[in-house]
Amino acid sequence: MHDHERFTMATEAIHAGEIHDASGAHVAPIYQTSTFTFDDMSGVEAMGMGESDAYIYSRGANPSRRALAAKIAALEGWDDREGASTTSAEIFSSGMAAITAALMAIAKAGDHIIAQQTLYGSADHLISDVLPAYGITTSRVPGLEPSALELALESRPDTKVVYLETPANPTMAIIDIARTAEIAHRHGARVVVDNTFATPIVQRPLALGADVVVHSTTKYINGHGTVIGGAVVTNDTVLMEEGIGSLIKFTGGVPSAFDCWLTNLGLKTLPLRMKQHVTNAMSVAGFLHTHPAVTATHYPGLTSHPGHEIAARQMDGFGAMLAFDLGSYEAAVRFLDHVRLCTLAVSLGNIDTLVEHPASMTHRVVDPQDRVAAGITDGLVRMSVGLEAAEDILADVAQALDR
Ligand code: PLP
Repeated sequence: MHDHERFTMATEAIHAGEIHDASGAHVAPIYQTSTFTFDDMSGVEAMGMGESDAYIYSRGANPSRRALAAKIAALEGWDDREGASTTSAEIFSSGMAAITAALMAIAKAGDHIIAQQTLYGSADHLISDVLPAYGITTSRVPGLEPSALELALESRPDTKVVYLETPANPTMAIIDIARTAEIAHRHGARVVVDNTFATPIVQRPLALGADVVVHSTTKYINGHGTVIGGAVVTNDTVLMEEGIGSLIKFTGGVPSAFDCWLTNLGLKTLPLRMKQHVTNAMSVAGFLHTHPAVTATHYPGLTSHPGHEIAARQMDGFGAMLAFDLGSYEAAVRFLDHVRLCTLAVSLGNIDTLVEHPASMTHRVVDPQDRVAAGITDGLVRMSVGLEAAEDILADVAQALDR
């Protein structure tokens, strides 16, 4: 495909970045090799002089990894299709490796990071406990509420990053990306958005003003629950080449060629999968919302959700993650112990429906007081609505709630 020839997202997801090598293989081979050969020293010299982008060693770059990166960049940078898009991506061995690289590429010892209160448990721990041990200070602004964010940035002029998830794991809190970017940029800080829950099909933060997007590709992008992986995406070519590119090479958190190949295969059906995920999630959220055993349903597609209007503006569909409160730990356990089709497991974004208890599972690592501040109650259940028939999911949820 010609570089500047851009199609709809459904077509991009299938064709962008695809490798058609000399073998004529229709589906790209898995480049399962650690090193790459040179015919003679002139090739080595050309590479050393920056005159060739030949592959050398798979920690630096690998065709299977580049193919996946190109496809993710095409989707996250899709809105740029009229011009010469500068969107590029790098693939990591996990979402956490991607988040770590994105934050460390921008913030150094002595710098400050401001994050929202509600984040995925391990991201929360990275920001609260790990980065401060390396001299990067961090603070929180609940919901990144605009006037509080403004004040926080004024009082911390050393802030280099504003970090957020929207929808946030696990409460589905929504943050206005464009507004946050406008405020952060006025104070010289960059905005990093974890777009795992939405995917580029539903939300493209770079087009809304964010500087960097991170993903756990483990989730919807792979979609089939076979791989742990991550991605960093940005329009800033200097940040990508000198920051992210250097970190992946010298800290070495690279994915295997096979994992990239599997993720690339899964990503091809993301647009189609997201359509059905969103439709199913709307049905489940509507059902939960009126069920007497449910004290609260958190889904941005419900007009009762406090972030509904912002979500309607910045998302194309409301995603397929939801959370609901059953009022107590005991009630949550009764539900989780009695689901039959839905599966009790962490992770999300797979074709099958997964349910989990954030306070005991994904967010156990978060300090109990901070958990309460983030809205993660003991009765909260998180659900990743899958692609089974909606009526079968609803029947299973109904029978488990009846317990
Ligand atoms: N971001 C979000 C929103 C997540 O839910 C997760 C994992 O659950 C991660 C990041 C971390 O990704 P990984 O498990 O691939 O390291």
